Amino acid sequence: MATPPATTTSSWSLHLDGARCDGHGICAVCCPERIYLDAWGYAVTSPSPLHEGERSLARARRAVAACPAGALALVPSPRSRRGPALPGAVA
Ligand code: SF4
Repeated sequence: MATPPATTTSSWSLHLDGARCDGHGICAVCCPERIYLDAWGYAVTSPSPLHEGERSLARARRAVAACPAGALALVPSPRSRRGPALPGAVA
């Protein structure tokens, strides 16, 4: 099995799987500056990246952990990825 290239990530984005979101609303309580609920109570996330050391990142991590539906994830922000370029990537 191939090992993915090592990357150093300093910023993250909140990814929401809208199909899994059940509208519990816990995430918006944990991280209100990056997650709000729409008119039907489903989560909406900010596209702004979260940087290491920011309080918002710690709160976003709590929101990811608290989501009972597993609908939230922190993924490396595309602009923060370092390391070998992937085949076909445009620099
Ligand atoms: S806690 Fe999870 S399921 Fe509930 S609103 Fe937030 S993302 Fe959706």
